Amino acid sequence: MAVEKNYGNPDLEKRLADRNYYTSDSHKDFSKRVEKISGTMSHMCYQCGTCTGSCPSAPRSSYRIRLFMRRAVLGLEDEALTDPDLWLCTTCYSCSDRCPRDLFPTDVIMAMRNLAFEIDIVPRNFLQTVNLIYTTGHGVPNNDVNRAAREKLGLPRDPPTTHSYPEYIEGIQKIIDHYKLKENADRILSEGGN
Ligand code: SF4
Ligand code: SF4
Repeated sequence: MAVEKNYGNPDLEKRLADRNYYTSDSHKDFSKRVEKISGTMSHMCYQCGTCTGSCPSAPRSSYRIRLFMRRAVLGLEDEALTDPDLWLCTTCYSCSDRCPRDLFPTDVIMAMRNLAFEIDIVPRNFLQTVNLIYTTGHGVPNNDVNRAAREKLGLPRDPPTTHSYPEYIEGIQKIIDHYKLKENADRILSEGGN
């Protein structure tokens, strides 16, 4: 746990925060949960860097998948889940294709995102997508411009999905309700979200 400097000044506390790692920062249960949810043995990572070298997000941001693998191994839960870079993975799976240890760093990120959502850390667009799927069955629903374009192409105005068969939306809503996704999305959005 970082040593409190007690400067009595929040700005100084932040700028001169203790950046050392302590064994008390390590949460073994976090490492275990990430391994269980992701189905990948992150403790086998030996930090070769091939994943970060493959990552399309890395050259354009501070996102480093190798660092997240290290956090998974060391159980650095707070550091991993509160880092905004957690949401910059495109899930392209290039890192998973190339890892010499046959690990799936992509799925480690997915597991961490799941755990972050459990503590209400989630970008608003994910929550808005939950609402769209709940009401229409689509993350990207059809609209009138596309309907006109489809008509011009000789296609039915709506595709043969829940748009044409809305009676199936109720089943989708039951699945979402079972996991309390909509309830949580609405609550976080109403509280201001991230
Ligand atoms: S490529 Fe695999 S072994 Fe290498 S740092 Fe990334 S996750 Fe670890
Ligand atoms: S899956 Fe995510 S972490 Fe892996 S290379 Fe693609 S963007 Fe980077």
